Amino acid sequence: MHEVNVGRKSLADYRSIVPKELMTEIDELGERLKGRQVLHVNATAFGGGVAEILYTLVPLVSDIGLEAHWQILTAPQEFYNVTKSFHNGLQGHAVEFPAESRALYEEVCRANAAELTRPYDFVVIHDPQPLAIRDFVTRSQDRSTWWIWRCHIDTSTPDKGLYDYLLPSINRYDAAVYTLADYVPQGLTVPVREIAPTIDPLAPKNMKLSPEDATYIVRQFGIDVERPLLLQVSRFDPWKDPLGVVDVYRAVKAKHPDVQLALVGSMASDDPEGWDYLERVIAYVGGDPDVFILSNLDNVGSVEINAFQSHADVIMQKSTREGFGLTVAEGLWKGRPVIGGDVGGIPLQIEDGVTGYLVSSAAECAERCLQIMDDPVRHHRMALLGKEKVRREFLTPRLLRDDLRLFADLEEGKIGA
Ligand code: UDP
Repeated sequence: MHEVNVGRKSLADYRSIVPKELMTEIDELGERLKGRQVLHVNATAFGGGVAEILYTLVPLVSDIGLEAHWQILTAPQEFYNVTKSFHNGLQGHAVEFPAESRALYEEVCRANAAELTRPYDFVVIHDPQPLAIRDFVTRSQDRSTWWIWRCHIDTSTPDKGLYDYLLPSINRYDAAVYTLADYVPQGLTVPVREIAPTIDPLAPKNMKLSPEDATYIVRQFGIDVERPLLLQVSRFDPWKDPLGVVDVYRAVKAKHPDVQLALVGSMASDDPEGWDYLERVIAYVGGDPDVFILSNLDNVGSVEINAFQSHADVIMQKSTREGFGLTVAEGLWKGRPVIGGDVGGIPLQIEDGVTGYLVSSAAECAERCLQIMDDPVRHHRMALLGKEKVRREFLTPRLLRDDLRLFADLEEGKIGA
């Protein structure tokens, strides 16, 4: 496994942003858990929501007096083909899972487990890729560690064969954490906590950018900043429905010929399907000069994402399945109007017609885009209500508090209560 260097962050910097009671509770929990050793394990340090969360959470846990580490799996490329099929299977697709795939999965988890040579008080394993590590940890490695499986995806209707295979591994943990109680599949015997993810308001992706700076950055990618811009930021993945977003754009363009679309999507190192799907999206767009398909390969990093989200007239997250959808919270935090697919964790963040819109089809989404473009003032007010909801519920200190509560409750035998 490789340790990810997360640098340092200070919780004090968040005090003026989030509710005071939250900070007081974190201080108390930090005092109780001082000196505890925490390890987070996931599959990638780049791309996707989990990496995004850990870059902030891990240094903040250390800042309050625990010792937190983050390690990523070491695995050959074929392993990620197998675990991408896990991801699809857990989200409801029928998947093949032949014996050789099982053997590879188990071998990688076994080899990574062998590298856990020092004791921790809490080990948090994220998502299915490293799930089976727990199965291969020997008694001498384990000591008094509490094991937590953190599932970020919607596993409410998993492929049965795959799920039957993974379930015993999940049940070997001391606790499982899901974004929504609805995602917890049948047959789990471990205690479950419901904890939604959060975004970091002070990270380069979410810190305040002036409208002038945002415009300046967006213009460098060829966007005409005088004309309206629709935006979706997400991996090139069918569940994120970028083709549906292109349909929305076309329907909007029929009424507003000056509209532009930016599809900004990183290529995560653990997502081998991303490249093929990117090709499909490019072909579907068919060379339309008002559609901009950009990724980290075009040098789009966090600040550029921030600029696009701060500048866009309408932000979409038109997913058809979504664990949580950090991009929704990111868009709302910028005070921009956001339209989300009415799935998964998106309705946790958007109250339809109050803080944004929830949609179930491209036609509905296009209709909402047109309403936003025709009445930006009213929709800006809605977006500010959305921003306030994010401030109260979806910024990193709330996640830190919930994780610390879970740790304290495990130690005190209160989990499940
Ligand atoms: N993201 C990014 N660059 C991109 C595309 C996505 O930095 O080109 C980030 C995005 O801003 C968000 C995360 O990746 O922070 C995606 O998280 P989300 O929960 O929306 O989806 P996931 O990829 O985890 O399914």
